[in-house]
Amino acid sequence: MIDAKSYVNEVYTKVSERDPDQPEYLQAVKEFFGTIEPVFAAHPELIEKNILERLVEPERILQFRVPWVDDQGAVNVNRGYRVQYNSAIGPYKGGLRFHPSVTQSIVKFLGFEQIFKNSLTGLPIGGGKGGSDFDPKGKSDNEVMRFCQSFMTELQRHIGPDIDVPAGDIGVGAREIGFLFGQYKKLNGFQAGILTGKPIFLGGSLARTEATGYGLVYFTKEMLDDIGKSFKNQKVVVSGSGNVAIYAIEKVQEFGGTVIACSDSDGYIFDPEGIDLALVKKIKEEKRERISEYLKERPNAVYENGNIWDLDERYTIALPCATQNEIDGPTAQKMISQGVGAVAEGANMPCNLEAVKEFQKAGIVYGPAKAANAGGVAVSALEMSQNSQRLNWSFEEVDDELKKIMKNIYKEIKDTAKFYNLDGDFVAGANIAGFTKVAKAMLSQGVI
Ligand code: GLU
Repeated sequence: MIDAKSYVNEVYTKVSERDPDQPEYLQAVKEFFGTIEPVFAAHPELIEKNILERLVEPERILQFRVPWVDDQGAVNVNRGYRVQYNSAIGPYKGGLRFHPSVTQSIVKFLGFEQIFKNSLTGLPIGGGKGGSDFDPKGKSDNEVMRFCQSFMTELQRHIGPDIDVPAGDIGVGAREIGFLFGQYKKLNGFQAGILTGKPIFLGGSLARTEATGYGLVYFTKEMLDDIGKSFKNQKVVVSGSGNVAIYAIEKVQEFGGTVIACSDSDGYIFDPEGIDLALVKKIKEEKRERISEYLKERPNAVYENGNIWDLDERYTIALPCATQNEIDGPTAQKMISQGVGAVAEGANMPCNLEAVKEFQKAGIVYGPAKAANAGGVAVSALEMSQNSQRLNWSFEEVDDELKKIMKNIYKEIKDTAKFYNLDGDFVAGANIAGFTKVAKAMLSQGVI
């Protein structure tokens, strides 16, 4: 039989020939394939059943038209997607992203990573992702509502509490989830379990809003503990100022760290005394304004247009929470020279392959997104449980579960890396641990 290395290479060649024009998807696949060979070497039955090629091909890709009328009465058309990637261990689960950059390549990369992330949570959820190239920025509430209604008019036929359960991602927060939920309800009746990240009064879970950011910091704390460090008195840079960034900042501050900078897609603020989080929340969550507004109330801070990672300051912990590929190889080198000792990904794939190599080469502890930001989807799964039980858990109950889940994820990826003689390689640990469970479930179900 073909050896593991040739098998992995062969499948990669096929995948890249099938979708040569999908760079983000191929990047995510390449990262995963670069670590997975030892599993195939140890388990030739996985090669025999061609698990890798089956895994990398989504079970189903939906693409649909989303027509909507803007406030001027003009008819607009956007493109909607849902990739139902893998249901080996549970219903498809993953967010919806509304952003002009959304393409099939983007939803496939996100859906692919979601399979392993969801598996790492230890909860019974498969992998999926969706979205649209619609840009909610600058749109009125009514425009966003009409768009969401049109999007759900199509999506509703493909989802269900035991089939596929979408949630939020970039551009999709409580407002959008509310509108999507309303339209589903109008067409099918009230079913709490069809979406997660819902407002509390629609069956949402306490601590879901905070979960990705808090979970990221709980995970990072585990990594730091292991090297005898903590957040206390550390300078931290968090990119982004959306839901993930805001609650990561909150938890870092609670753990005694000082977050000196955060950003949006236009630029970044540097506040040497530490970011005033209440102000960021007011600007971003209430007013939906640009982060540059921060200067109006904190004149001693600095605002720069451009990339936050150009910041010329010393800091020890970096939490990229903005979007994919925000950190490349040279940026990673610069961060290392500025004293960064730990990096954990709040966004999905914020560090490209070269950046990850730089961090690993320099011996910097690095937590990949699949593990580090799994807290959001983990609490989504807890929301599904509460919806099935028709119960609401307290904030503390959910937060305690989240802490346990993040601790377990860290332990599992660390132990897995060790088992394969890849001590400290959390990229390999996360990929292998997430994959193993899905592969076993696929094997047990036959060729389907
Ligand atoms: N979009 C989030 C993620 O990347 C959350 C998905 C969910 O809650 O289903 O994991």
